[in-house]
Amino acid sequence: MKNPRIVVAGGGPVGVVSALACAQYGYAVTLLEAEDRIDDNPRAATTHPSTLELIARVGLIDQFIGEGLVARFFQFWDKPSRTKVVEFDHDILREETPYPFVVQTEQHKLARMGIERLTTFPDATVRFSSRATTVNQDAEGATVTIEGPHGTEMLRGDYVIGADGGRSTIRKALEIEFEGFTWPERFLVLTTIEDFQKLLTGCCYRNYLADPDEWTNLFKVAGDDGKGRWRAVFPTRVEESDEQALGDDSTYSRLQRVFPIDRPYNVVHRNLYKVHQRVAATFRKGRVFLAGDSAHVNNSVGGLGLNGGIHDAMELVDTLHQVITRQASEALLDRYTRRRRTMNIEFVQEQTIINKKRLEERDPKARQARFDELRAIAEDPQKHKEFLLRTSLIASVRKAQRIE
Ligand SMILES: Cc1cc2nc3c(=O)[nH]c(=O)nc-3n(C[C@H](O)[C@H](O)[C@H](O)COP(=O)(O)OP(=O)(O)OC[C@H]3O[C@@H](n4cnc5c(N)ncnc54)[C@H](O)[C@@H]3O)c2cc1C
Repeated sequence: MKNPRIVVAGGGPVGVVSALACAQYGYAVTLLEAEDRIDDNPRAATTHPSTLELIARVGLIDQFIGEGLVARFFQFWDKPSRTKVVEFDHDILREETPYPFVVQTEQHKLARMGIERLTTFPDATVRFSSRATTVNQDAEGATVTIEGPHGTEMLRGDYVIGADGGRSTIRKALEIEFEGFTWPERFLVLTTIEDFQKLLTGCCYRNYLADPDEWTNLFKVAGDDGKGRWRAVFPTRVEESDEQALGDDSTYSRLQRVFPIDRPYNVVHRNLYKVHQRVAATFRKGRVFLAGDSAHVNNSVGGLGLNGGIHDAMELVDTLHQVITRQASEALLDRYTRRRRTMNIEFVQEQTIINKKRLEERDPKARQARFDELRAIAEDPQKHKEFLLRTSLIASVRKAQRIE
């Protein structure tokens, strides 16, 4: 029997991890990336314990931790008064996971190290500047049409994974509805080399600053040079133009409101994102699957989107392996949607909407009640643990395993 070929569209972290997992099972795999290099814009970094377990499975955990920052704690702050409300400690999960901490490693590092590893497999091919433009399928396989340096080409695979991001061409080619909504505000991401741990005394590597006027997520990443930098995420005002939001006035004054300093902040990167909460109506059509942002997108508060995408990748490749090796019939492929779509709705979508609302609450009484609730959770070891089992997606993995 010929070795099955899996074509993966999209060389983001989810496509790369999917391709690597396929290669490790011994399948031939072709990874197609539309651009000529890995996108290194600042996006995901927060990687939760349940996802670290999966990164360990594809053999990248030591490098992944080595290139990032270990963040045992995360904190909620009241931004207007600059006071810490509560701290959560992942160490309480030490009986539940080998990785009782979050690791802050930028997503482009995961994609890069995964591609580096892929090139060690003789049957794995990585093609940059190769854009999937459509996909067609029949009973035996699926054919991806590619626009690349040599013009239009067809590439046949036994299965195709569409990991081509939120605007997924594969999802559109399959005519799968992307159900949900778009928030009216956008998110502004500023990267600065000012050290917030020296400014906001007592803060840690992951901080959520609640503010009825303008909340902030503040977290530290290692940077490509390992010297460390801070990312601050803010909501824009709905009526604010892109130019206004990205301009010096806006960026400096937003950072000054987090902590005032007597000079302009040294901002090394600015970016603006539209924010959606959307889930594809199905993650499978025949031999073609969606994984990662092509299947679901959410606001970034809590850092769950990519984590969910890596969970998709591993669940999908494990399921394909069971079907290809005839341990299960083709019908099992639908379980991928049942598990991963359900978990995305019940955990990632629900949690990120709660997280955002918690930070932006305007009503003073409700705001106080949310702070009190968090404090009560943190003070009770059992509740503290349950809270972290949920935020770290360990609870979602356990629940998914019970879905047949
Ligand atoms: C500001 C911000 C902060 C975030 N923070 C976190 C966080 O801390 N933790 C977390 O879990 N998530 C976070 N996220 C979400 C996370 O960035 C995404 O979930 C993640 O990028 C999804 O990875 P992906 O591989 O599915 O898609 P992408 O990273 O979008 O990769 C898709 C790839 O496919 C390529 N492509 C597109 N179309 C085609 C095509 N037709 N053919 C071939 N290739 C194609 C693209 O060039 C791209 O390289 C954040 C997002 C933002 C915006």
